[in-house]
Amino acid sequence: MKKKLIVVSGVIAGILLLATLVGPSLILKADRQEAKAESYAYSEVFFDEYDEVRTHFLEAVKGFENAGVEHQLYSYEIAEEEGLYIDTLYLPSKEEQTNLVVLTTGVHGIEGYIGSVMLDVFWQEIYPDLDKDNTGVLVIANVNPYGMKYHRRYNENNVDLNRNFILDWNNFDLAVNKDYPKVESLLSPKKSMNNAFWHEAQFYGSLVKNVVTEGADTISNALLGGQYEYPQGVYFGGLEDQESTAYVKEVFEKTLQGAYENVVHIDVHSGYGPRYNMVIFNSVYETMNEAETKALFGYDNVISYDSESFYATTGDTTDFYYRLKEKMGTDTELFSTCFEFGTIGDSFLDSIISMKYTVEENQNHWYPTDNNTMQEIVKERYQELFYPTEKEWREKTVADFAQACKGVMKAKLK
Ligand SMILES: [Zn+2]
Repeated sequence: MKKKLIVVSGVIAGILLLATLVGPSLILKADRQEAKAESYAYSEVFFDEYDEVRTHFLEAVKGFENAGVEHQLYSYEIAEEEGLYIDTLYLPSKEEQTNLVVLTTGVHGIEGYIGSVMLDVFWQEIYPDLDKDNTGVLVIANVNPYGMKYHRRYNENNVDLNRNFILDWNNFDLAVNKDYPKVESLLSPKKSMNNAFWHEAQFYGSLVKNVVTEGADTISNALLGGQYEYPQGVYFGGLEDQESTAYVKEVFEKTLQGAYENVVHIDVHSGYGPRYNMVIFNSVYETMNEAETKALFGYDNVISYDSESFYATTGDTTDFYYRLKEKMGTDTELFSTCFEFGTIGDSFLDSIISMKYTVEENQNHWYPTDNNTMQEIVKERYQELFYPTEKEWREKTVADFAQACKGVMKAKLK
């Protein structure tokens, strides 16, 4: 009996030793992004560095200049670091000021890369068909240039800018997220990761413990709404307007001051929802329901206030736009929505994986690992979460954006 126990313990110890030694490289191999395909739709503008995106944007502006198109460019440099700009381009309508199309990209820094590609799709496939006599275009590109440069969702203060668009901080309850504090230890571990095999074991152990003690719903709820109490945590919405937010708020306000009758805003994001599908995610303040939105835009993937998968957040750009309009009491018509490119998927398991990748990146930001394999794994996973290299995914983003954007322009512009 004793002998049997010794053998079994030995076998287990052997397996664990083997897993410790070879596990990390197997995990990295499984998570490694596939090599980028040589050529696919818009492949030449899927950039990986902020500077490339910005240079490309300025080249597009130059193109308008050379073509004699009336335009105004304003580059707002954020204070954090030299060379980080929010670039705003305004192409006024030629005659009547009827419609203004507003596009925002990179509110979540790393999502600015796919946002930049979609600006190209817009210039090439949507813009030529707009009636320039009565329609102007305003692009606010790279709202979170710091997050873009450092490939983070958050900004220079670890703030999630799409949770930072609060209309009135004085009347905002910072403790709005009641569930986050309950699962804080799962969502922001305060130590660096080391061996990837043991990190996996620890994470899933902590997950099971939190599911048992707090329930799966508590974890889901903690994640979706943003939180305002843990500055080093995930989805931290800040305690006041961030510099980028204050700037964009001011621009939004100008668009509603009555020069244009009708404002149509699209904020480009990635990371949430079914893979290979872009979702039109309407604000809770938009009165069109899911069926109406689908029919109006001729586009099937829609989430509206009445959708099963709808979730309310605090401080996002689209909600803010509607609330600002209400506060200003303006007659300007407004449609403000989010185009969200799904990456991981939308099952319960997918949402756990998305959460895990998010937590790991943030943990590694505050407590950097000195384990190279772990470092690589975190990087590959974060890229997969927001900007997959896979050709099929990239081609579908272009096709979906073009279709949805055409549908919105056709239905919403006068
Ligand atoms: Zn986003």
